[in-house]
Amino acid sequence: MTKGREQYDVIIVGASFAGLVAARTAAMRGLKVAVLEAKPEAGARVHTTGILVKEAAEEIDIPHHLTRRVHGVRLYAPNLNSMDLFAPGYFFLTTRTADLLRWLACEAERAGARILYNARFRAAGRQGANIDLAEPTLTARYLIGADGARSRVAHAFGLGRNQRFLIGLEAEYEQLSGVDPRFLHCFIDSRLAPGYLAWLAPGPCVTQVGLAVHDKAKPDLAKFQAHTDAIFDYGSARLVERRSGVIPAGGPVSPFAAPNVLLIGDAAGLVSPMTGGGIRLAFHFARRAAQAVADHLQQLGPPPEVVLASEMPSFRLKRLMRRALDLAPANSLLNAALTTAPMRAFAQHVYFHRRNATAMSFAEFEKRLTELTPSIKSNASAESQAPLRPLP
Ligand SMILES: Cc1cc2nc3c(=O)[nH]c(=O)nc-3n(C[C@H](O)[C@H](O)[C@H](O)COP(=O)(O)OP(=O)(O)OC[C@H]3O[C@@H](n4cnc5c(N)ncnc54)[C@H](O)[C@@H]3O)c2cc1C
Repeated sequence: MTKGREQYDVIIVGASFAGLVAARTAAMRGLKVAVLEAKPEAGARVHTTGILVKEAAEEIDIPHHLTRRVHGVRLYAPNLNSMDLFAPGYFFLTTRTADLLRWLACEAERAGARILYNARFRAAGRQGANIDLAEPTLTARYLIGADGARSRVAHAFGLGRNQRFLIGLEAEYEQLSGVDPRFLHCFIDSRLAPGYLAWLAPGPCVTQVGLAVHDKAKPDLAKFQAHTDAIFDYGSARLVERRSGVIPAGGPVSPFAAPNVLLIGDAAGLVSPMTGGGIRLAFHFARRAAQAVADHLQQLGPPPEVVLASEMPSFRLKRLMRRALDLAPANSLLNAALTTAPMRAFAQHVYFHRRNATAMSFAEFEKRLTELTPSIKSNASAESQAPLRPLP
C-alpha cells in the first residue's frame, strides 16, 4: 500500500448509470469500492431523458414506482402526418430519472460501496501496480472511468476520447395537454432536428420535450415547440426544468483501457450512434466490467480489457446509418417517405427490433392488456386516457 493513503480495490469515477451499477456489482463480489462523483448527490442536474428500452429493464430490475410503461411510438413526418408503431410484449420505460439514480446509489451503498460526493477526479499517477489519485488522496488497484462523454479519466491516461457528438436540449413540463400518453412521440425533421429527432416523452410525473442535432447544427427547442404548438398546449403547461447535454455518436473509443484502467458507459463511447441510447449499454458493460475486474483481482482472471474487447459492439452498421442521418435528407423527401411500407418496416425495426411480436392491432392489444391482472389493468388504464387512433 502507498503510505498514508486509503487503499481501495476499485475506484470508480462517476456516480451515474454506469458507475453506480459497476460499484454495486464490484462491491457485491467482495471488492472494496469507492465512487468519486463531482456533483453533490446522485441525481443532481440530470442531463438525460432517461428512457429505458425494455432490454435495459432486463439488465437491472428497477422499482415499478420509478417508471411508466409506454407501449408505442408515434412517428411524425415534418408535415406532422404520423404513423403509430408498437410490438406486443415490447415497451419503453420513462423514468423519474433523478430518483432512479438515487435508488441506484442506495443500492451501490447497500452492497458496500462508498460514494464520495463533491469529489472531482482531476489527475492520477501509477505507483508500482497501484494507481494513486492526486485528490482525494486515495489509492486503487484498479480505476474505472464512468465519467461521461468528456471523460477526465480518458484524458489522464491517454485513452481514446469521443470525437463525434449529438447535442441535446430538453425541457420538462407538468400538465402538458394534447400528449397521447400511450406513445413516445418522435419527430423527424431535417430543418428542426438535423441528424437526429425531436421528441415528447410522457414520464411518470412530467412530459419531457426535447431534440438533438448533429454537432454542426444548433438545437432550437423554441422553434420545435412553435412547430408543434397546434398539437401540444405548451402555453398552459408549467415549465419545471431545462437541461442540455452531449451524446457520443462515434461508437466505442479506442483504446478504451490501459493496464488497470478501464472506461465504461459514455466515457467508452458505448452509445448507439443510430438511436443515441446509452443507458442499456451503460448497465450491461458496467456489470460486465465489474465482474471481469473482480475475476482479475480476486482469481487471477484475464485482464478485464481482454474480456470486454471480445464483447463490445463495433456499431459498424449503425455508424454508417449515422453518416446517412447526418446528411439530413430534405423534408419533402421525408414527408413522402414516412407512410410508405418500407419506411414503416425500417422504423419498426429500429424501435422494436429482435422482438418477434404476435400480429395484432393496437386496439386489440390494449383490450387484451386490460383483461390481465389487476395491477397491469390499472397501469393500462392510466395509459389509455386518450382516444384510440386506428393504425394506418
Ligand atoms: C439530452 C439527452 C437525452 C438522452 N436520452 C436518453 C434516453 O432517453 N435513453 C438512453 O438510453 N440514453 C439517453 N441519453 C444518453 C444517456 O444519458 C447516456 O448514455 C448515459 O447517461 C450514460 O451514463 P454514464 O454513467 O456513462 O455517464 P453520465 O450519465 O454522463 O454520468 C457521468 C457522471 O460522471 C460525473 N463526472 C464527470 N466528470 C467527473 C470527474 N472529473 N470527477 C468526478 N465525477 C465526474 C458526472 O457528474 C456524472 O454524474 C441521452 C443523453 C442526452 C444528452
